Amino acid sequence: MIIFLHRKDLRVDDMLAFNYIHAMHKQSLHVLILDPFLLGHERYLEHSGVNFLQHAARLRQLYLEAGQQLHIVYGEPSAVLNTLLAAHPVEELVFHEDSTPYAKQRDRLLRATAEAARVNVTSFDEQALLDLRDFHRWSGRSEPYKVFTPFYRKWSDYRLRFYRPATSVHVSQLATVALAPDAAEAYALPPQLEAALAAGDAEATGGCGSVPGAPDPHSVLRGFLAERLSGYADGRDRFAREATSRLSRHLNVGAISARTVYEALLESEQREVWLRQLAWRDFYIYQSRLDSDYFHYEKRYDLSPLDNRYFQAWSEARTGIPIIDAAMTELNTTGWMPNRLRMVTSMFLTKNLLCPFTYGEQYFRFKLSDYDNVLNRGGWLWCASLGFDAAPYFRIMNPATQSATHDPGADYIRRWLPELAGLSDKQIHLPQAHALVELTASRARAIEVYKGILQSGRK
Ligand SMILES: Cc1cc2nc3c(=O)[nH]c(=O)nc-3n(C[C@H](O)[C@H](O)[C@H](O)COP(=O)(O)OP(=O)(O)OC[C@H]3O[C@@H](n4cnc5c(N)ncnc54)[C@H](O)[C@@H]3O)c2cc1C
Repeated sequence: MIIFLHRKDLRVDDMLAFNYIHAMHKQSLHVLILDPFLLGHERYLEHSGVNFLQHAARLRQLYLEAGQQLHIVYGEPSAVLNTLLAAHPVEELVFHEDSTPYAKQRDRLLRATAEAARVNVTSFDEQALLDLRDFHRWSGRSEPYKVFTPFYRKWSDYRLRFYRPATSVHVSQLATVALAPDAAEAYALPPQLEAALAAGDAEATGGCGSVPGAPDPHSVLRGFLAERLSGYADGRDRFAREATSRLSRHLNVGAISARTVYEALLESEQREVWLRQLAWRDFYIYQSRLDSDYFHYEKRYDLSPLDNRYFQAWSEARTGIPIIDAAMTELNTTGWMPNRLRMVTSMFLTKNLLCPFTYGEQYFRFKLSDYDNVLNRGGWLWCASLGFDAAPYFRIMNPATQSATHDPGADYIRRWLPELAGLSDKQIHLPQAHALVELTASRARAIEVYKGILQSGRK
């Protein structure tokens, strides 16, 4: 028998692991472990936790519809595995890999637990669209690509030659089995998580009722390709419109695979600009694996000239800069913020307000529905001028100018800060009298401070 552990692959098709299990002609026990470490600090009430649980509920439903069994349990993963190995005649453990520091440590423990019980371990790498390990080997480089454009050229070349198509086995073709009652009882879900799953929507998790239940990612994709792809290049930065795909919350929990998205895109014309965004996703995953500092930049650089004095006001949408407060209001209310505004708010926090990027990163971890450890860190490193291909330290976005350029009629500010709706189209973008900082002076100060920070990290 095989144990298959679901993690950020909450779907029932295009799974490398399913193809493998099918080819082995063995029964399989399918388990999703809700990890107290990842759902701690009541994260299940926050948008990122709600998104995961909504998709977990949807996964359970998809298994049911396919006549198969999925067991959702709660506990420390290696302890759960130990119990499963004792309760079932297991020959092999199978999972998809994840590359964050916590996930790697967790998987080391899982491997050790399995190996101690003489159980084989088979894992698959399928986080990115392309096989990045093979890509790196094929590129023949000793050093990774540090700039996006040459990476993208090589990535495109590799894609055209070696793309690994979506797999064909659906969960309905597998022979899933029941979980031993003792194990089910030992790792039963706490009532609040059970309620969240049973409801399958945000209502049951309390406090995040404005987040809609998880829609079908395939119809989100179809809707985007049919209705918005043609206007994507011009509209993606027009943050008052819904011009982007909004697929990130589905991609990041694996509710739809990057391969499925890519193959659907191939049928459309005008795909280049959007495909580039999928390549940015791969570029951050690539960095997270090949840049040994990726998860440690805060230790490599001296961030002591920065402090958190303005962090709370920023997070509570009280900066006095209308576009920042509007974007933070949308984030806090819905779990969503358009990409351009993620860049503007993160740069404002790290540069104008001189706050360490780790505060914003941690805040987004709870608040973004589409939170992803690798992509979020990549975005925050970018705005803090750290890491590969980051924003130069002297190029600091002016939030008022960004607002006036990308949304001249201020529809976005009026939507999220209705108390400012009466201001003129010119006035509404400008800092208010109580703004935390003056934009020009704080920009000049940030340039000086970041020059010093970047020098502190030179090897
Ligand atoms: C500070 C900051 C934090 C961020 N945190 C996250 C995060 O936690 N999770 C997350 O998915 N994205 C994050 N991003 C990247 C980006 O904002 C989102 O991927 C994008 O807004 C998702 O919207 P969409 O699905 O409509 O994207 P679309 O514009 O439709 O793009 C399609 C897909 O391409 C990928 N993509 C698009 N833009 C980027 C980008 N700049 N970097 C990497 N991949 C991209 C995403 O997978 C996205 O779903 C962050 C960006 C910044 C500046």
